[in-house]
Amino acid sequence: MAVAEQALAAKDPAKDSDYLRIVDVRKEFDSFVAVDDTNLTIRKGEIFALLGGSGCGKSTLLRCLGGFEKPTSGKIFLDGQIMNDLPPYERPINMMFQSYALFPHMTVEQNVAFGLKQGGMAKAQIADRVAEMLSLTQLTKLARRKPHQLSGGQQQRVALARSLAKGPKLLLLDEPMGALDKKLRNQMQLELVNIIETSGVTCVMVTHDQEEAMTMATRIALMETGRIRQVGTPDEIYESPTSRFAAEFIGSVNMLEGRIDQDHADYVTIVSPSLEKAIYVGHGISGFEGQEVAFGVRPEKVIISKDEPAQQYNKARGKIEDIAYFGSHSVFHVRLASGFRFMSNFANQQRWASEGMTWGDEVWVSWGDNAGVVLTS
Ligand code: ATP
Repeated sequence: MAVAEQALAAKDPAKDSDYLRIVDVRKEFDSFVAVDDTNLTIRKGEIFALLGGSGCGKSTLLRCLGGFEKPTSGKIFLDGQIMNDLPPYERPINMMFQSYALFPHMTVEQNVAFGLKQGGMAKAQIADRVAEMLSLTQLTKLARRKPHQLSGGQQQRVALARSLAKGPKLLLLDEPMGALDKKLRNQMQLELVNIIETSGVTCVMVTHDQEEAMTMATRIALMETGRIRQVGTPDEIYESPTSRFAAEFIGSVNMLEGRIDQDHADYVTIVSPSLEKAIYVGHGISGFEGQEVAFGVRPEKVIISKDEPAQQYNKARGKIEDIAYFGSHSVFHVRLASGFRFMSNFANQQRWASEGMTWGDEVWVSWGDNAGVVLTS
């Protein structure tokens, strides 16, 4: 049997699908609940993001995985092995801190070799492994430099090379882009993903930056006040948020409060005090007539036009109050008679052209039957 086939045969897909299991994990500080009875299953090789605002408990959960905090209750399993009673240094886990924590007096290669030496690896093997890690992170040419002779992005790659050197089963990243400026961040996000994917390590990262989570993660857990509100792929969370919180946390959204007027198997209509016309949603929801709901529609799904659209539903008339220019697109803010302010994105496909629409113009906003989501929580 070929090596690859053997590897495949030895692989247990069931084991891979729940490689990291967080079971009913709770962390209290005195009487304050920082992480509330949390359950998560993470697949082997995933880059999984814990995303949420300040104080939602994401770092505490990450620290529980690393062994830097002890859960008040619940269990953590990695590759079938319980982690709870293992101290951080005995866990097959490595954490890359936001500050990188590089040794300033050591060269790049000495930094990367440090953990391997501590672990008692033979000298020749250390040299091979360090060379492999430097090649993976494209640092070979910088091996003799010290951290202060490196750019922020290069320092981050050293920290990553060092974290991966021992071949951990799980890599933890705490706000990995926290120390970098915006432009470098965007570039490093993709570089980091490439390196992590090439290494094959399973990764859990913490971030408060939704764009970062969307760019880097295979799946995201959105957290609020110690609880997970939604788990999904970036597009699932963006396109199908299950709550007002999720819809508003990720991206911009026009959120209209209202109630279900007609509830049919394949569509619902919603009336909202913000709109003269009803909202028509082309799929059934598990609701009932009279139920209070919200309807969320993303600005890029809202069309702005001077002429009234032919459709019966899903349109409103208003006045352009603001135009925010973002280079690639502009966001039009349209004030309706009800006072509601609609956002509509307009792709700037040509220079200086917004179809002649400007401040103060009377326009229509409209959207398709499947452009938005109905939210019941
Ligand atoms: P941030 O992005 O601001 O770091 P976070 O989501 O990572 O936020 P945590 O650091 O996990 O939040 O903290 C969650 C809550 O637990 C916060 O209210 C915090 O004040 C509290 N907390 C964290 N560590 C301790 C501690 N050692 N003692 C008491 N309370 C703590």
